[in-house]
Amino acid sequence: MSSFVQVFNFHRVSDEHSPAYPPIPTRVFEKVVKFIKRHYKIISQKELLSLDSANSRKPFAVITFDDGFYDFKKCALPILIKHNVPVSLHVVTKVAETGETFWTQKLNKIVEKYALENKTISNEHLSKEYTLRNDEETEQVALQIYKELLPLKNKVEILDNIAKEIDNEYEKTQMLLWNDLKTLPASIVEIGSHTHTHTNLKTIETSEIHNELYTSWNEINKNTQHNPISIAFPNGQYDERVLEEAKIIGYKIMYTCEAKKNIIPASDNIYHRYDIYNKEYWKNYIKLLKYRFL
Ligand SMILES: [Zn+2]
Repeated sequence: MSSFVQVFNFHRVSDEHSPAYPPIPTRVFEKVVKFIKRHYKIISQKELLSLDSANSRKPFAVITFDDGFYDFKKCALPILIKHNVPVSLHVVTKVAETGETFWTQKLNKIVEKYALENKTISNEHLSKEYTLRNDEETEQVALQIYKELLPLKNKVEILDNIAKEIDNEYEKTQMLLWNDLKTLPASIVEIGSHTHTHTNLKTIETSEIHNELYTSWNEINKNTQHNPISIAFPNGQYDERVLEEAKIIGYKIMYTCEAKKNIIPASDNIYHRYDIYNKEYWKNYIKLLKYRFL
């Protein structure tokens, strides 16, 4: 008999005003957690792997977090502990080591700084100039530039050049470091990989894919004593080579960003996820209701 599982993915939970990539406010996150808990049996990844023909009155759900923002510990974790909800947290190991965030979050903060200074973003590699007149435009422009840069090999360099125009004076987002990660309660948080540098795995050589996946496995194991069993591909980007390397290294669960429910056992260890990201509860509520009846 087959079972189904739905995976819900989160990024930032915070009350910080960040228009380029708005976090879910803490109180909204708690309501979302309560909704999922009411309608699903929330299971850990370890339980997911041994689910097979399990039966439950409620459908199964898994909760994941990507990126390893510091606000996970500050804002999300207390709510997860309060409601006894297990999650898998996917960290970018170079970020955990250096504290310096990856290119997509840098992009968000750079766009916000341009908006604050009322400056137009222009760069020879971008298809047009971008102006930012309000929060809504800031969010849209950050997304547009993200889409333009994502497939490019030299995106980090381009972004560095865009940042030079504001003298690199953009806000640095606080990230979880190894010292934070090793003290997270193991009964609530499993640590998984989100690669070593959060690069687009589709744009790099196979040997580099191996390094991204292997280094992150090793670093997590060395620094936290967790044996990571899952990997979330940055920005949902993967291909056959990525799946092959992940399998060789021993990842048992591979998360995409495609919004679909999963049939258990999953073929090729691939699990799809619904992204939950709205600032307003009612928007999340409508989405969750829709997913509930898929
Ligand atoms: Zn990510």
